[in-house]
Amino acid sequence: MSARSDVVIIGGGIIGFSIAYRLASEGSSVTVIERDSIGNHASGFALGLLNPTNETGHIESLNHLSFKMHQELIGVIQEESGVDVQVLTMPHVELALDESEIPDLKAEVHRINGLSRFNSRWLEPDEILKMESRISEDIFGGALVENIMMLDSYNLTLATAQAAEFHGVEIVLGEAIGIVYANDRAVGVKLRDGQINCDAVVLALGPWSGTASLWADIDIPIVPQKGEIVRVEGLDPPLGMHVHGVPFGKSCSVVQKADGATWLAATVQDGSGFDVAPSTEALESLSQRGVRMMPELESHQLVLHTACMRPVTPDGNPILGRIPGKEGIFIATGTGGKGILMGPVIGRAMADLITTGETALEIAEFGLDRFS
Ligand SMILES: Cc1cc2nc3c(=O)[nH]c(=O)nc-3n(C[C@H](O)[C@H](O)[C@H](O)COP(=O)(O)OP(=O)(O)OC[C@H]3O[C@@H](n4cnc5c(N)ncnc54)[C@H](O)[C@@H]3O)c2cc1C
Repeated sequence: MSARSDVVIIGGGIIGFSIAYRLASEGSSVTVIERDSIGNHASGFALGLLNPTNETGHIESLNHLSFKMHQELIGVIQEESGVDVQVLTMPHVELALDESEIPDLKAEVHRINGLSRFNSRWLEPDEILKMESRISEDIFGGALVENIMMLDSYNLTLATAQAAEFHGVEIVLGEAIGIVYANDRAVGVKLRDGQINCDAVVLALGPWSGTASLWADIDIPIVPQKGEIVRVEGLDPPLGMHVHGVPFGKSCSVVQKADGATWLAATVQDGSGFDVAPSTEALESLSQRGVRMMPELESHQLVLHTACMRPVTPDGNPILGRIPGKEGIFIATGTGGKGILMGPVIGRAMADLITTGETALEIAEFGLDRFS
C-alpha cells in the first residue's frame, strides 16, 4: 500500500471506480479503499438497465449525457480491462396493463420523441403480441422506446476497476475509519490498519455514506433502500426486449440478459436498514408481477434471488460536489436506482471538480448544502 496518493476514494462500487478511472486516465495518482470486495453490493447486483428516457426533471440531462458516455466508453473499458460487460441493445416496451394507463403512456411517447437520440411509438395490443407472443393478452397497448441498453453491472464494475488499475489506480482492501485533517483541510484517510496521505478525499460509500457524517462533521442524509431481484430460467427463443409494467401497483421489469436467465426486477423497500437477506415476500411478489406480464414464466424454475441496497437521499437526487466547510473532501452518492447509468457522468464531473476546482457539467444543484 502506498503511503501517499493525490486522491483517495473511499468505496469500491461503480461510483468510486468511475471517478478513479477518470482521474487516473488524466494523470492523477489514485487509491480506492474497499472494505469488502469489488462490486459486492448494489454495483454488482443491479439490473444493469441503461435507460435515460424514463426520468424527467433536472437530472434528465445528466442521465442522457451519461448514456452517451457509456456508448463511447464501454469499448475502451472492455479493451483496457479484458472484461466483457455483456451489453445488449434492445427495445423497451412499457405495457399498459390497465386501460387507465393509456393517456399517460401516450403522453410519454410524445415526450420521448422530443428527445434527441430516442424514438418512441405507441403500440396497440395486437402489434405487441405480434412482436412477442408470450406477453399476456390482457394488455391495453404499450409505449415502445428503441435502443436502450442492458449490461451486466458486476462485469461493468469489475471492468471499470481493472481499467482504472491499467491507468495506475491502487486498490486497497481495507476499511476506512476516518479522515486526517490539517486545520480544516483533509490530508489523509485513516484505515483500520494504517493511513494514506493525500490532497483530496472522495466519499463514495454508497448506502453507508451516512457513516462519514462523523468524519466530515456534517449530516450526510443517505439511507439504504432494499431492492430484490429474482432470476428464473430463460425463455426459448430468448426474449429480445425489456418489458416493463406496473402490475398490482408495483413496478416490474422482465428481461432476458446475456447470462441466459430471465430477470424479474425489482422490489423497493424503505426502512429495512442494512438487511440484505432475500425474502419470501419479494420472491412471491416478483413472481406474480412477472407472470402477470408474461404468463409462461409461471413454469420457470428459480435460478437466483438477490438483495442489495440503493443509496437514497430525502429528495431522490444524488449528492455530488464538495463537503461544505472543509477543504479537499468531495462526495458522490445518492444515485438511488440510477447509479449504473450515472457512473460515467459522475466520474467526469467529479474528476473535473477535484483537479480544476470546477466543472462545466450541471451538478451545482446536487450539492450537499441543499439539505442544510
Ligand atoms: C435491486 C437494484 C436494481 C438496480 N438496478 C439498476 C439499474 O438497472 N440501472 C442503474 O443505473 N442502477 C440500478 N441500481 C442502482 C445502482 O445499483 C446504485 O445506484 C449504484 O450501484 C450505487 O453505487 P455506489 O458505488 O454508490 O454504491 P455501492 O455499490 O454500494 O458501493 C459502495 C461501496 O463502499 C464500500 N464501503 C462502505 N463503507 C466503507 C468503508 N468504511 N471503507 C471502505 N469501503 C467502504 C462498500 O463495501 C461498497 O462496496 C439498482 C439498485 C438496486 C438495489
